[in-house]
Amino acid sequence: AAKAAGKSAYRTCTPALRESAVTRAELIADLRRAVDEGQLHLEFQPIVDLATGAVRSAEALVRWRHPRLGLLSPARFLPLAEETGLIVPIDRWVIHEACRAAATWRDRRTEATVAVNIAAAHLRRPDLIATVTAATASAGLAPRALTLELTESALIDGSEAVLDRLRQLRELGIRISIDDFGTGYSALSYLHRIPATELKIDRSFVARLDTDARAYATVEMVTRLAGAFELSVVAEGVETERQHAAVAAIGCVHGQGYRYGRPAGLAQLHTALTRP
Ligand code: C2E
Ligand code: MG
Ligand code: MG
Ligand code: MG
Repeated sequence: AAKAAGKSAYRTCTPALRESAVTRAELIADLRRAVDEGQLHLEFQPIVDLATGAVRSAEALVRWRHPRLGLLSPARFLPLAEETGLIVPIDRWVIHEACRAAATWRDRRTEATVAVNIAAAHLRRPDLIATVTAATASAGLAPRALTLELTESALIDGSEAVLDRLRQLRELGIRISIDDFGTGYSALSYLHRIPATELKIDRSFVARLDTDARAYATVEMVTRLAGAFELSVVAEGVETERQHAAVAAIGCVHGQGYRYGRPAGLAQLHTALTRP
């Protein structure tokens, strides 16, 4: 019976499944080396002023050029990085690299800032402050030129220690943005406690603006909320002319999305920054 069970257990493990299991273990091993071996790089996506089209900021987005699998998107490897704790050295590398990049464009006398995504696990670490301070200092970047993007889910278990850390970062001048706003389970009350400077309206609402009255109402409401709390507001994932017109009409101040520019290399961002 044991033999039969073993055999059927084996059979349920299809070649595809076995391959994905190997790939997962290999990917983790490969990811451990990725930072040291220089396989990660950043792309930058412009965040524009909706009224003028001027680039106000750029979000740094990590990519992994895997030696055999080619270019991997964050969705492909960040979940593994989070499970294994490798996200912390990765995010640390991203913060340093993004600050260095922003220093190159601020040398060109633009005021545009840089935004980096911070994983929940990183937010829980007291050394986040030291990492951020070291990165801005060694790049010669003013702390106010750096925005940390945090998701609602990272903030929801907001312990007093995390809130304290955010306040300290604010005191240093670092900006705090709440990413994918509207998709978490947060109560409005937490907006009173988190020292945020910006809300980013999740692109799922922007995508449905034309067809879904409730999505439209959500974008309107978040834009008003941001105004009332004196927060900056960014509409994410603006792809079409109609979406652009809608978010501008609603009174949203900033936009990000393929309509204004895809994530791309530093050279392309430099060009976008100097566009009249
Ligand atoms: P996010 O922070 O919300 O970043 C925006 C994502 O939307 C990016 O995907 C960007 O390429 C994509 N996007 C921008 N405009 C448009 C648009 O008009 N249409 C559509 N369909 N998509 C658009 P990406 O680069 O694949 O990153 C996915 C997520 O991975 C990010 O979402 C962020 O949560 C995470 N991530 C990326 N880089 C890092 C990083 O360095 N550290 C951490 N912890 N997370 C990161
Ligand atoms: Mg983000
Ligand atoms: Mg987002
Ligand atoms: Mg998102």
